[in-house]
Amino acid sequence: MKDTELYTALLGLGNDWRVTEVKLDLATKRVDVRVEAVRDREWQCAVCRQPAAFYDLAEEQTWRHLDTCDCRTYVHARLPRTKCSQHNVRQIVAPWAGPRSSFTLQLESRLIDTLKECDVTGCGRLLGISWDQGWHVVEKAVARGLARKQWRIPPYIGIDEKSFAKRHTYETLVCDLRRGTVEYVVEDRSQDSLEAYYRQFDEKALKNVQAVAMDMWDPYIAATRRFIPGAEDKIVFDRFHVTRLVTEAVDKVRKQEHKALMEEGDDRLKWTRYLWLANKENIPEWRQGEFAALRQMSLRTGRAWAIKEALRQFWDFIYAQNARKFFQRWYFWATHSRLPPIIRVAKTLKVHLQNILTYFRHRITNATAEGLNSKIQMVKEMACGFRNRTHYKLAIYFHCGGLNLYPHPLSS
Ligand SMILES: [Zn+2]
Repeated sequence: MKDTELYTALLGLGNDWRVTEVKLDLATKRVDVRVEAVRDREWQCAVCRQPAAFYDLAEEQTWRHLDTCDCRTYVHARLPRTKCSQHNVRQIVAPWAGPRSSFTLQLESRLIDTLKECDVTGCGRLLGISWDQGWHVVEKAVARGLARKQWRIPPYIGIDEKSFAKRHTYETLVCDLRRGTVEYVVEDRSQDSLEAYYRQFDEKALKNVQAVAMDMWDPYIAATRRFIPGAEDKIVFDRFHVTRLVTEAVDKVRKQEHKALMEEGDDRLKWTRYLWLANKENIPEWRQGEFAALRQMSLRTGRAWAIKEALRQFWDFIYAQNARKFFQRWYFWATHSRLPPIIRVAKTLKVHLQNILTYFRHRITNATAEGLNSKIQMVKEMACGFRNRTHYKLAIYFHCGGLNLYPHPLSS
């Protein structure tokens, strides 16, 4: 087989194109492949796909292709231009590359595969592309994926807020809890942010939403009540958010008490933060004795901790009415604890109880979409290299959007 035939086959050029020259330069480890269009064939206008007459050849263009045995490989061609009665003179699109791309489709697919495994910097190092080129591939892939995506509102939605970088800026993420994908990313965590998502769907589509998991965050509640019919039975406050609030209250009690004790020279609560906040079963064996001893002392923190631990049983109920009865007993205990942070959090939970109890019907949480949170976490960790929130958003769609990212040849 001749080298030109080999590359005609490797590039998958078919009958309308042929490789006319292959040049190998071992010193620079580079292969240059020249491709020409077969002239006597039918041409199509790139816009309307109707038959059009050959007009002339455009200036030479170069595309980078997959390396050949570690040699950088470039495809060169002068693309024909056609003349269509409607669209006048237009350049045809090369079958081996997308419009305005400097990579062949095969290289672009390889870049996408690599970008799925590592960040833009890593991909750049492995495949020899610049940071800007890497982001451009991500951007195009996401645009392609979003354009192909079938817009439907999922029956089980999770609304999540994620802070961006270390600043106090947030993104609202709308997740499909069943598919484990991020459906929508929008700046801020206001009522408007979430309404921008709901507004894309008509009433009939919105009616199909069965349940929405979220934090007890008023703007999200308001947006959901406004758009989702029957929202009062469909909003489910995330159980992990409930637990987090109670845990934070325990921590406040600990901090206050620790400060007061230290003023008297008593450092019993030093280095104990983790013990009070972790789930009991997660405390390492070597600290269990110490923790048991601490609990024996009549500390305010110990009482707050016991109240937090008791609430864990709440989630084990099968029926909402039993959970409600349990909550009432717990509430009485919490509000009579004389621990202000605990009293405050108990009152917050009581206000929102109706939509905490919806958990027992829908059984969803924002962690229902297994693996999604860890993926978002990974994107956030990579986010230290992000210079702006556009990149952060793109990366979430790229890694968590469940999108079809790959370029396809025009023929398919
Ligand atoms: Zn045309």
